[in-house]
Amino acid sequence: MYLYFCFDVEDIVHPDSDDIALDIAARLADVGVVASMYVVGEKARLWERRGRGDVIAAVGQHDVGLHTDHHSIHPTVSEYLADKEWQDGVVEAIRQEEPGVRALARIFGRYPSTWATSGGSWGPQIPAASRLMGLPSQVYTHVRAGESGACWFAGQLSYPDVAAIPGGEDAYSDDSTFEAALPKLLEQVQQAQRDGRTCLGIFGAHPTRLRYKVFWDTLNFNRGQNTPPDKYKFAPRRTDAEYQTCLRNLERMILALRDLPGVEAVSTSQVNRQFAGENSPVAWDDMHQLAQTIVDSDSIGVENPLASPAQSLDLLARAVLRLAVGAAPAYLPLRTVLGPEEEPPMLERAVAVEFEAGVALCGAVAQHVAQTGHLPTCLLAGDVPVGPGPLLRGIATALLALARGEKPNRVTFAPGAEEPAAAAHLVEEGIYRMLPGWSPHSPDLRLDRLALHTRLQCWSLKPAIK
Ligand SMILES: [Zn+2]
Repeated sequence: MYLYFCFDVEDIVHPDSDDIALDIAARLADVGVVASMYVVGEKARLWERRGRGDVIAAVGQHDVGLHTDHHSIHPTVSEYLADKEWQDGVVEAIRQEEPGVRALARIFGRYPSTWATSGGSWGPQIPAASRLMGLPSQVYTHVRAGESGACWFAGQLSYPDVAAIPGGEDAYSDDSTFEAALPKLLEQVQQAQRDGRTCLGIFGAHPTRLRYKVFWDTLNFNRGQNTPPDKYKFAPRRTDAEYQTCLRNLERMILALRDLPGVEAVSTSQVNRQFAGENSPVAWDDMHQLAQTIVDSDSIGVENPLASPAQSLDLLARAVLRLAVGAAPAYLPLRTVLGPEEEPPMLERAVAVEFEAGVALCGAVAQHVAQTGHLPTCLLAGDVPVGPGPLLRGIATALLALARGEKPNRVTFAPGAEEPAAAAHLVEEGIYRMLPGWSPHSPDLRLDRLALHTRLQCWSLKPAIK
């Protein structure tokens, strides 16, 4: 199992927090550990302005990812995406985050390895936008599929899970608390290993919290407030002795994890390279099996690493187009397909169209994907709007008939699941619970658009595998 050690380098309030990142980076480099330093764009610019070449050099020995451009300064990620639809949200995410990508690339002389969510501030457009900015993955995503520790969502390689020392950074500051907590973390990691995970993030620390007892943003950016730099409030500090205890226990934890049997400590860039690409050609037998699974199930699953539900609909539509005029294709290439951009209609009763009209609908699905990269929100079967759920079942059924050598007279679209079954739970957890739970967020943060677009992009969700 691959372990990657995550550090969220984010404190833009306390100037001497720069030294904490330096101390951790130097210490881990000395024992041969390459950590993943997720640095806020504004933090890196502050290092540059303060002439902290020493910090940049120390941190630059490790993997460097972007921990948002400005973290808790409002508007945060969820705040700037809250009233956006899909496309304008992607454009806004690029406008807000690209300065951070450019800053890290300039300051560290290489491109960031990932985009790491700040606290609980996330939106479904972030994976798509980060991929468009050339970042190969997204860490601390709010959605998940499968058990590998990575999934594909909106075309981006996404890592949802991290394990951390029970008690967080405070546990490092006290030896007896740390001694009691470490075995629990080691057991959690070994359990993940027994469960067959491919990778697991280990949350090392927010460096600032090894020195400061309270988060910099809780004091200055809580519940929507923006404190200007000349009015910053500073947090209570740990003593020098406590700080040294924190550094020592953090290093002990990382070495204990690194030395577990069957574990390999790697950088985020190395984890990114472990996973195969999102798309590969799909063999006819697998297409046939995919269609059979869809027809046999009452729900739409996101657990098949071969294809997301959106990719399945696109793939099966193209397979029907081929079968309707000749033999089954031996292989068809998979494409990146995002979910619909708007809420699909609910189909009230079954609608059937002539076979040729059904084939034409398959052509319309494939063409919409080719032109937009998204599933259509709905297509007209006769004069009835039909969403991707009924289209998926109807097209899978037609494909199975053609595969048996039968040309059906009609293609039927039946009511049933309109979205992947996982969507409701993921939105409940990843949006309605996690976003208001992050203290910098304004209490009146709007959640309905973020929830809608997360649900719709669950069409693009599937486990990532090696
Ligand atoms: Zn953070």
